[in-house]
Amino acid sequence: MKEQQAAEIFRKYLKDGKNRITPERFEVLDSAIKYDGHFAADDLFLQMKKKKSRVSRATVYNTLELLVQCDILTKRNFGENMTRYESTLKKQSHDHLICVDCGRIVEFINPKIKALPEEISNELGFNVESYSFNIFARCKNNKECQHHKKQASK
Ligand SMILES: [Zn+2]
Ligand SMILES: [Zn+2]
Repeated sequence: MKEQQAAEIFRKYLKDGKNRITPERFEVLDSAIKYDGHFAADDLFLQMKKKKSRVSRATVYNTLELLVQCDILTKRNFGENMTRYESTLKKQSHDHLICVDCGRIVEFINPKIKALPEEISNELGFNVESYSFNIFARCKNNKECQHHKKQASK
């Protein structure tokens, strides 16, 4: 999916659902798909604000949910108070490892894990819809962990 396509899909989604098509919503779409990596709703709101956007926090929050519903974004639950969004554009399906100390998120693709949901669902008489697999861990490199912690709290 390319950026242009995402905008088209979103426009159609809003129209079909009788949601208002507003420039603010497309501003959120634009910023969300350009955001590098995983972000909290507030991360995006603050970034947009820094760039002098006038979009309200409420609009950012509810537009992100709409974008999840039309599969332009994926919503990840990385534990308590750690909901993160990420763009599905140009991305293969992948899993995550999260450092519980510094919050660093590392993506990985492992063929064994990828095959498991299918295998297990088949055995139990289901078809897979989706799955989530997160590893919660601690950085082995303490220095790097501290460094990242500082970065994250900025
Ligand atoms: Zn990811
Ligand atoms: Zn860490």
